[in-house]
Amino acid sequence: MALLPIIVAPDPRLKVKAKPVTQVDGRIRKLLDDMVETMHAAPGIGLAAPQIGEALRMLVIDIAKDGEPSDPRKFINPEIVWASDEQMLWEEGCLSLPEQFAEVERPKEVKVRYLDETGAKKEIQATGLLAICLQHEMDHLDGVLFVDHISALRRNMILRKLVKSQKQKSEKPRKSEKAPQADKPKAAVPA
Ligand code: ZN
Repeated sequence: MALLPIIVAPDPRLKVKAKPVTQVDGRIRKLLDDMVETMHAAPGIGLAAPQIGEALRMLVIDIAKDGEPSDPRKFINPEIVWASDEQMLWEEGCLSLPEQFAEVERPKEVKVRYLDETGAKKEIQATGLLAICLQHEMDHLDGVLFVDHISALRRNMILRKLVKSQKQKSEKPRKSEKAPQADKPKAAVPA
């Protein structure tokens, strides 16, 4: 397995609509394994393929809490087939927007159809954190970031901060720092 570099916003590769996976083969399974390893190392609770520069419709999620055994889940070509009217507000973070958080409102419950890593058709009914995480990661497949759900003012503030911190990083490299969490809602971890 290998750790993959995670793309940080603003980057055009995060705004692309990803293509469906046409064949679930060894390359796809290896990529999913690498994505799980990368997500765990970040650490984060979710990672979508476009975040590692692969414009493919697939994502990984692990919402196991600290101290619990890891529970990675892999989703290929996921589609929301039903969403609850009831909404839920959650403070989200993202591995591609390190150390940035904002409250986003989404359906509290969703039903998602997808392929597993053997290519078998599956369906999952998710609620709470898993539902939020699935919707956040699926947004990445359509080039949408959690900041696209908040006001333009707030979004631009966050993106400007990121540009500034990326610039600082490239100016003075080698500052040992703990990897920021992402792709997980703050309360738990970023996604
Ligand atoms: Zn994200």
